[in-house]
Formats: sequence, C-alpha cells, structure tokens
Amino acid sequence: KVILEVRDLHATVNGSEILKGVNITVKSGEIHAIMGLNGSGKSTFSKVLAGHPSYEVTRGEVLFENQDLLALAPEERARAGVFLAFQYPVEIPGVANNQFLRLAYNTVQEQRGEEELDPLEFDDFVREKMKSLKMNPDFLDRSVNEGFSGGEKKRNEILQMALLEPRLALLDETDSGLDIDALRVVASGVNQLANKDNALVLITHYQRLLDYIVPDFVHVMEAGRIIKTSGKELAKALETHGYDWLHSAEQTAG
Ligand code: ADP
Ligand code: MG
Ligand code: MG
Repeated sequence: KVILEVRDLHATVNGSEILKGVNITVKSGEIHAIMGLNGSGKSTFSKVLAGHPSYEVTRGEVLFENQDLLALAPEERARAGVFLAFQYPVEIPGVANNQFLRLAYNTVQEQRGEEELDPLEFDDFVREKMKSLKMNPDFLDRSVNEGFSGGEKKRNEILQMALLEPRLALLDETDSGLDIDALRVVASGVNQLANKDNALVLITHYQRLLDYIVPDFVHVMEAGRIIKTSGKELAKALETHGYDWLHSAEQTAG
C-alpha cells in the first residue's frame, strides 16, 4: 500500500528554486533513507512536506494515502498521521513537557474520533510508553525542550512519535553533533515503532545512523533531485567511496 507519493516536486525559497523535480514512492512497512551532501535540498524537502511557510511549491504533487498533502494546513498534516519531528516548537518555556505531550496526543486522538486522556490517565500512559522505550521519565516535568541536551531532544522526539503512532514519520537528522547514545535512542525507537502498517523516511547526511537502522531503500539527493535509489548497500558504498563516486560510476557504466 502506497503511503507517500511525491511526483516531480519543485519548490522555491526566497525566489530561488531548490527542489527541481523530486520523485519518491514510499509504501507501508518500508524504511527509506535520503542521503546527500550538505546543501543538496534534504531539509528543504522535509520543510516542504511539513508546510513551512517560507517554501513555495511551484510544480508537482505530494499524496499522502491518496490525499493531497499540500492542500492541508501544517497541523492538519500531523492529525492526518504524518509525523515531522521539527514541526514541533523547539522551546516552550513554562509549558511542562507532559502537558505538551498530552496536548499533542489529545489533538490527534480528537481528530481520529478516539478517546482523549485526562492528566492522570495520560501520565500512566506516557510512563508505560517510556518504559517500553527504556526512557527515564525525569524530563516529563521539565519545560518543553528548554535546556534539553541533544540526546534528550532526540528521546523526546521518539517519544512523541511513539505516542502519536503516525502512519508516516519523517525525521531530518540535521544534528551532526549527536553522540552515540543519542544515535542509539533514535535507532532503537525507530526500530521498535516501525511496523507493517507505517513507513519511515530518515534524512541523514551521515551513514553511521544506518549502522543501527537498516533501510529498505537508500536515495541520494543532489541539487534538488533524487539522482540514485538503491538498497541498504548504497549507504556503505557512499561511506567508502564518497558522493563523487556516483558520478564516476555513472561514467564507467556509460
Ligand atoms: P541539506 O538539508 O541537504 O543540507 P538544504 O535543504 O538545507 O540542504 O539547503 C538546500 C539549498 O537551499 C542550499 O543551497 C541552501 O543554501 C538553500 N536554502 C535553504 N533554505 C534557504 C532559505 N531559507 N533561504 C535561502 N536559501 C535557502
Ligand atoms: Mg544542511
Ligand atoms: Mg539539512
């Protein structure tokens, strides 16, 4: 079953075209990795999918479960079952994390016509989830992301994902400073949450995350297009040979 279908997506920011015809099809049960050098358009792609107001789609379409994702407001995309880590605010001083998580959870539950949870019920629920993800519940009482370390932000992102149970999760691993513990948190969370009914798109500059998460497909983005798609072995080859190798390999193949 196709969850995400992106066709000939073009997008501009500040009048310059960054995405120049992205095509990608993601089916349920699949994990996709999008790799590429800095500046190739990976984060632009994720921001366009999130509905960031600075990015204008000039051509192409994005279908999420056969509906026009681009026609939905950013918050509607989340409610429809798309999880984009960065669409959540980075810091909200004064709002406790458990309040924030409950609001996010209940908003989605309401949209789905499912039961909302009061603070006590939610507290039990979230602690149970955290236990299964082997997370320390300490940061539930802190202000949202205020003073969170890189690793804690990652944990919280994975926890949000676990609570919201999205059909499609798109994680842009922009933080190159993640230590090995944070990588493991992301990886084990993702591996635990991936199932046959959902799909995951992981955007990463670094191959090392893919030592822990085994993707079904690896795509390489360059200059606003996906220039190559292959299996998990592509990530290893890129690590060994670098991105330039793609061009020399093309030449060799004629
Ligand atoms: P990646 O995530 O692959 O490193 P980005 O999507 O962040 O790439 O950037 C792709 C290109 O778009 C870069 O050349 C970058 O300078 C440009 N770009 C991204 N955001 C903006 C912006 N807000 N204004 C102008 N140019 C931008
Ligand atoms: Mg970048
Ligand atoms: Mg980026």
